[in-house]
Amino acid sequence: MNSLKNFDNEIYNLATQELNRQNEYLEMIASENFTIPAVMETLGTVFTNKYAEGYPNKRYYSGCEYVDRVEELAISRVCELFSCKYANVQPHSGSQANAAVYMALLNHGDTILGMDLSCGGHLTHGSKVNFSGKNYQSFFYGLDENGYIDYEKVLEIAKVIKPKMIVCGASAYAREIDFKRFREIADIVGAYFLADVAHIAGLIVAGEHMNPFPYAHVVTTTTHKTLAGPRGGVILSNDEELMSKINSAIFPGTQGGPLMNTIAAKAVGFKYNLSKEWKEYAKQVKANAKIIADVLIKRGYELISNGTDNHLVLVSLLNKDFSGKDAQFALHDAGISINKNSVPNEKRSPFITSGIRIGSPALTTRGMKEKEFEFIANKICDVLDDIENKEKHLQIKKDLEFLSKQFPIYI
Ligand code: PLP
Repeated sequence: MNSLKNFDNEIYNLATQELNRQNEYLEMIASENFTIPAVMETLGTVFTNKYAEGYPNKRYYSGCEYVDRVEELAISRVCELFSCKYANVQPHSGSQANAAVYMALLNHGDTILGMDLSCGGHLTHGSKVNFSGKNYQSFFYGLDENGYIDYEKVLEIAKVIKPKMIVCGASAYAREIDFKRFREIADIVGAYFLADVAHIAGLIVAGEHMNPFPYAHVVTTTTHKTLAGPRGGVILSNDEELMSKINSAIFPGTQGGPLMNTIAAKAVGFKYNLSKEWKEYAKQVKANAKIIADVLIKRGYELISNGTDNHLVLVSLLNKDFSGKDAQFALHDAGISINKNSVPNEKRSPFITSGIRIGSPALTTRGMKEKEFEFIANKICDVLDDIENKEKHLQIKKDLEFLSKQFPIYI
C-alpha cells in the first residue's frame, strides 16, 4: 500500500487502524467474514477502470474483450457451485439483487409473503421501511412455538392472501430451511418462489445445507458473508425467460455500469468456494456454531429454536434484565464483536432489542476450531452473567488476547 501511504496518509492510517481492529477483536457478527488476499488483490486491479454496461458480448462500449471473459468465468463458476443454469453476477449488493428480482417478477402493488423481521427475516423481504414494503403489499410468516419456520402457517396465510411471490431466507434463523416445502406451498397458490440464501450460501455450495435448486424459481445471495468473497450480490435461476427479465431489471433497470473489479473478485472467490478446502471450512463453520450453542445452553441461556443447524445462534434475552444493546456493548469491551438482534415476541425497539446474534464464519476463517470456540463461548457467558462489571469485561479482553496472536489475519 505504498502509493496510498504516500498519496493519502489519512486514509492509509485509517486502513491500518481498521486492520488492527479486525485483528484485535474476535469477529462474531454472523454476516461478516475475512476474504482471502487473492480476492482483495483482485479488487485493486485495473478492472476498476473499465466501463462495461450490458452483458458479455453485448456491451455498449468497446474494449470489453477481457472483462467479457472475466464475467463469463464468474457466471460459469457460480452456476457450477449451485448446480443451476443461469446467473447474473452484476448486483452491487444483496439488496440490489432482491430489488431487481422484485422489479422483474412483480408489478407495483403486488402481494408478497416473506419472513417477519423479528423472526429473522431481512428488510428486503417486505419491511415497511424498505422498498419491498413500500412498493409491494407485504405480509409475513413467522416461527412456531419451537422456533422453527411454521410451514403450516405459511401455507395458511398464502391461501388467504394469494401472494404473487413467496420469499424465504433470513438474516437470523439458525435452522435448515426446507426449500422443497416452500416450493410446494408456492405451487399450491400459484406464486413465484424466491430463495434469498445470502446467509447460508457458503454452506449450501459445500453441501452443508440443502440446495435451493431445483426448487426455487429464483435464488439471490450476497457474496461476502459465508461465501467469504468480495462485497456484492448474485442472482441465479434455471428459467431462461425469468433470467432474461432479471437481466433487464439489473441493467438498464436498476444499475448502470457493472463493477468489473468486484465481478473479477467474485470469480476468484467462487474458485475458492469450488475447492476441497472450502468443504472442510464449511463443515468447521457448522461445528463451531454448534459448540457456541451447546455452551450457551449449558450455561443457562435461551436460544431461539434451542440450537443451530448452520453458522449462527440467536440468543433471547427476553428473560433477562438487560437488553441486546447492553450485551453488545459489554461484549465489545471484552473484545468480542457480535450484534444486538430482535427476537420473536420482541418488546424493545430495533435499536435496543432483546437478543444477540452470534456467528462462527469469521473466526473459523482465522483457523479457530471447537477448542477455541468453547473457550470464547464460555467467556461470552462470563460477560453476560456479570453484565455490569466493566472491570471484569476488560480483564476478559486481556484473557482473549492470545487468540489474536495465535490466529492472525493478513500477516
Ligand atoms: N438478504 C439477506 C438474507 C441478508 O441477511 C442481507 C444482509 O444482511 C441482504 C439480503 C442484503 O445484503 P446487502 O447488505 O449486501 O444489501
